[in-house]
This record gives sequence, structure tokens and C-alpha cells, in this order.
Amino acid sequence: MSEFEGLVAVVTGGASGIGAAIARRFHDSGASVAVLDLSIDADDADGAYFAVPADVADDASVQAAIAAVAERFGRIDIIINNAGVGAQGDVTANDDDEWMRVWNINVVGMARVIRAALPFLCESSAASVVNLSSVVADAGLPQRVLYTATKGAVLAMTRAIAADHIREGIRVNAVLPGTVDTPWIGRLLSNAPDPVAERAALQARQPHGRLVKPEEVAGAVAFLASPLSGSTTGTSITVDGGLQAL
Ligand code: NAD
Repeated sequence: MSEFEGLVAVVTGGASGIGAAIARRFHDSGASVAVLDLSIDADDADGAYFAVPADVADDASVQAAIAAVAERFGRIDIIINNAGVGAQGDVTANDDDEWMRVWNINVVGMARVIRAALPFLCESSAASVVNLSSVVADAGLPQRVLYTATKGAVLAMTRAIAADHIREGIRVNAVLPGTVDTPWIGRLLSNAPDPVAERAALQARQPHGRLVKPEEVAGAVAFLASPLSGSTTGTSITVDGGLQAL
């Protein structure tokens, strides 16, 4: 597959889980891929990707990372805003500092990356941004207030940024994954009293009887970044095994 040949894709949070599957998908489809992640060394990824240590919660770090990608490849066409963190609990569970920390990563982090890359996206004839929201943005799952607020904001922000940049030819969409089998879910399960029973319960909650695969999310992301969706902007695709359909 070479649908992204000649294009440069930036994947934040691409060192793990969904982001790693997205980075692989774009690499296998011919893109030059830059992975921006808190947990990555510059010589990681066996040379398959340009690995850039970066913190999306820090504007100077994001600006330096985007400048490094532009210097390395001379262009930026595709931004996949995937880096994010979780937060558990009802509305009393997190204090202001935690709200600001998670908001800064999950929402402002995505705006920062787009802001820094915008001059390059304006120069591209294949400019596309895909933001990772979550199915919680559309459905009120219990004990996820702060996380849900950030992912709802990502969805709303996606539409607003799309509206501002339609005429510059920059498409902006979101993907809403359900429960995806990544190290994130592994960490949640390992904190449960009975991880095996908890995993079985999670799988049973899925209408198709299993967790979503990271590659299935990467497929939706690739569609939204490709010319196949050339008239699609300001919208989202849900990848949740049918949870929302029930
Ligand atoms: P993960 O924890 O496996 O990977 C997240 C990656 O983001 C890690 O490599 C981490 O180092 C990086 N990261 C975290 N904070 C960062 C920061 N400040 N700057 C740069 N990098 C940072 O998570 P995942 O399950 O692959 O989730 C990826 C995205 O998908 C997240 O935005 C998450 O909210 C969303 N999502 C995940 C699920 C799921 O079930 N796993 C469901 C819905 C949405």
C-alpha cells in the first residue's frame, strides 16, 4: 500500500497502544512518520520512524518538536493527535490541579500541536488532522467525569477547527474508540482485584464479544487522513464494536 507516499505524518503518543498502531499503519502505507512521545528516545523505532521526545503539555516542547520534524522532512501533511491520559472517578474525585493537568494534556495538547503545525498544513495539498476522542464523548459512562469532559471538548474542538480551516483545504476529524486492547487498559486491569475476571467482564460488555484492536482504530484514522474521505471534515467515526448501536 502506498496511499501516503510522499506525505509526512506526525503521530503524538505513538510509542504505545493505539498511537503505535497508527504509526505502523502510516509507515506501511508509504508515509514518512514522526512519533512525538513523552516516553521515546531519539534513537527508538529502529529508524522506521523519526522519534521525537516531546511533551504535548508543554508549548515550548511542542514547538521544538514540530520544528524538528519540519527540518527533517521539509513538510508536514498529516497530524494524528493521539497522546492522552486517563482519569477515574465521579465529580468529587479530582481536585483543580488534576483537572488542569489532564485538561492540559488531553485538550490543550491537541490544540498546541495543530497551532504549531498549521503553517505547514496550509502549504500541503493533502492536509488532514485526526484527533483521538473517545466513545465517552457521546455516552455517559460512570466514574469518568474528568476524562469525559476532555474527550467531549476534543470532539467539539475538532468541529470548530474544521470550520475555521475548510477553505484552506485542511480537513479535521475525530475518531471515537470504545475499549481498545492497549497497555492503558492493561494498567487499568492490573489495578483491579481480579484482573482476569475484569477483562472477561469488559469483553462481555462488548457487543462483538472482544476488545477493539488498536489496528481497527488505526484503520479509521487512515481513512480519515486519506483522499478516500476528501469531502469529510468536522465529523467523527466511532470504533466501539457496536456499543453505541445497542
Ligand atoms: P497508551 O497509554 O497505551 O498510550 C498513550 C501514549 O501517549 C504513551 O506512549 C504516552 O507516553 C503518551 N503520552 C502521554 N502523555 C503524553 C504527553 N504529555 N506528551 C506526549 N506523549 C504523551 O494509551 P492508548 O490506549 O493507546 O490511548 C491513546 C489515545 O486513545 C488516548 O488519547 C486515549 O484517550 C484514546 N482512547 C483510548 C481508548 C482505550 O480503550 N485504550 C479508548 C478511547 C480513547
